[in-house]
Amino acid sequence: MMTDQPATRLSDAQLDELRVRARRVAGSLVDPAQLTRVTRFVAGRHAWAGAVLGKPFNLHRLTNAELVLLDLAAQAEPEPPVEPRPPAPWEEGYQPSERELAVAARAQARAKEWDRVRAALPVPVTVLYNYSGPHHYEFHVSGADHIIVREALDAGRLQRAADQSLCWTPSRARHLSFDRVSPESDRVPTCKACLRFAYRLVDEPPSEVLLAPLRR
Ligand SMILES: [Zn+2]
Repeated sequence: MMTDQPATRLSDAQLDELRVRARRVAGSLVDPAQLTRVTRFVAGRHAWAGAVLGKPFNLHRLTNAELVLLDLAAQAEPEPPVEPRPPAPWEEGYQPSERELAVAARAQARAKEWDRVRAALPVPVTVLYNYSGPHHYEFHVSGADHIIVREALDAGRLQRAADQSLCWTPSRARHLSFDRVSPESDRVPTCKACLRFAYRLVDEPPSEVLLAPLRR
């Protein structure tokens, strides 16, 4: 959203007068209180500061006279026009970055692939996050979203009781503690062991769409 609103309501004549005053009163030493005051005032108002200075604003390249000028201008115009800002992600007109688009496309592909695999599984499943703690990465169990069978599964050598994860083993059991708050989860599983079992159950090679490491 762009507006034609000027960044400052101060007239050229007023600004010229302020510049003359600033050059006259600016000493050779920076007044720390003034620097703090100006820094606070220009935060989010760089267009205003640029309009006052007559050049792009850069806090680290201010001369003392420019610092004084900004301070005088802030006193002359304590409430400058509000600067238009780009829309936030939840607002209309938001332009996602290439990276955000790529992340969204990847999330969509993952969700779609998981929907497909889940529909082909022999028993209903849900996906739950394992809260058991941060110290069991060797099993890929902690901090991952696991596939939980909702009913007992008996697929030849792969047998699971209801509410066990596909990656369940007796030795891992104590590291698997699941959030049971929302059994109808729209999470996409990230546990590699669970995913490999799932692909085995649907008789397909594991897909990179779900098995590749998540990049954030
Ligand atoms: Zn798992």
